[in-house]
Amino acid sequence: MTSIGNSDARVRIGLEIHCQLTALRSKLFCTCPADYRGKEPNTNVCPVCLGMPGTLPLLNRRAIEYAMMLALVLNCKIPSRITFYRKNYFYPDLPKNFQITQYNAYEQASVGVDGVVELDDLDGSSKTIRIRRLQLEEDPGRLAYDGSIDRSNYALVDYNRAGVALVEIVSEPDFNAPNEVRLFLNRLASILEHLGICNPALEGAVRCDANVSIGEQARVEIKNINSFKDVERAVTFEITRQRSLAARGIEIRGETRHWDDARRITVQARAKEEEEDYRYFPEPDIPSIVISSKDVEAIKASMPELPHARVERFVNVYSLSRDTAKILVGEKHLADLFEASIKYYDNARSVANWIVTDLKGYLERYDDGGGDGSSSSSNSVILAKVTPKHIAELAMLVDSGKINRATARQILQRVIATGMLPSAIVQSINVDMLSNKDELASIVDKVIEEERKAFMDALSNEKALNYLLGKVMRYSNGRADPKLVLSMLKERVIGTSKTGQ
Ligand code: ZN
Ligand code: MN
Repeated sequence: MTSIGNSDARVRIGLEIHCQLTALRSKLFCTCPADYRGKEPNTNVCPVCLGMPGTLPLLNRRAIEYAMMLALVLNCKIPSRITFYRKNYFYPDLPKNFQITQYNAYEQASVGVDGVVELDDLDGSSKTIRIRRLQLEEDPGRLAYDGSIDRSNYALVDYNRAGVALVEIVSEPDFNAPNEVRLFLNRLASILEHLGICNPALEGAVRCDANVSIGEQARVEIKNINSFKDVERAVTFEITRQRSLAARGIEIRGETRHWDDARRITVQARAKEEEEDYRYFPEPDIPSIVISSKDVEAIKASMPELPHARVERFVNVYSLSRDTAKILVGEKHLADLFEASIKYYDNARSVANWIVTDLKGYLERYDDGGGDGSSSSSNSVILAKVTPKHIAELAMLVDSGKINRATARQILQRVIATGMLPSAIVQSINVDMLSNKDELASIVDKVIEEERKAFMDALSNEKALNYLLGKVMRYSNGRADPKLVLSMLKERVIGTSKTGQ
């Protein structure tokens, strides 16, 4: 197994990733809408997801299909029987006092088991990450801390999210470096987007826990990493923390730590429960689901084009370089923008180049997260304003030599600010700003002619220049470049005083 980047075989990192199936209409076991965001607390609930006595869960069939799709893409085996379990624990965000989830201690009964993902970096090196299991489970509710209240006093509970379908992916501890984790998560985000089952840009739609150990030292679990972007940071911090402890001869404690995204450090949390504390047992209200090979084939047949196939198509059909194709497909919205843009301008390489270098560069500069290539909501706001027609026109204007690349990048900013088409912006720039000295000279001369007295005043009083400038601006309908006009007026004044006229 070759490795990628600064990998250290003594460092072992495993991931536990939760992805909400945001494309579902309803929750996992009831008909409440899956879209809980932005609603009044405790209005997106029913007796089932509130765990009222006498209610029964009704499994969302589509959730199984979506989870199976993802399992197949991650090269998991699909067991012939899928079983749900109760994971018992008390926490205020869990109305039933148990979570309906899956578990593999007694049998292989999760939606997917024993997967593998090949990571390949742009430099051609590669690495295999094993997936232990992929399971379906319900999201708990959320605790809200009112800002005006001392956090130690109480929290408010909102069950709107309770029962939303989650896919949990558990990897083996096969990552040896933080950048491998980032590559994997970027890949996963692209797969989720291409399958159309989860929008990773939605707040809280993807969450990640990571376990980190070095050599024979104990394993530390990092919880609470609420965006894919922060995982690399959290893991990097944790490796540094453990190395510095080890360097001072301090033993690493097996513990759970939280990622504090404001301070960008991990902090100690509660001691970890042991698995047996959860008293897992098969969920009696949901019968096991038998999966036939026909079912699996049907799911396979219903899958949309996946990132790998799309890269191949971009290389073969549009003659893009493999690297360019990978960068585009790495973020589905960019790949979609590319394919839509070349309908307006039939130069695939030029359009691709524009998106991969100029647009992506712009997005990364405006990305508070430091631009690691994953989607962010601020970027989607920007991207919503850039249409395929905009991109096509920009590439076309550059190719035709009408504008240079630097100007094109400035125009991109105007496109984002105004939504105007680049061709219209180019025209308005040409019309707007009169910055040609020869054209301005006639207006300047005319004004000096008419305002002889003010001009003579200007020889001793610079303020009179502003009066003359104002008049030039009026004569040019505000189009003159004021800086240039001022310097021309000054030249005339100096010239006049030298000749003593
Ligand atoms: Zn409900
Ligand atoms: Mn879980």
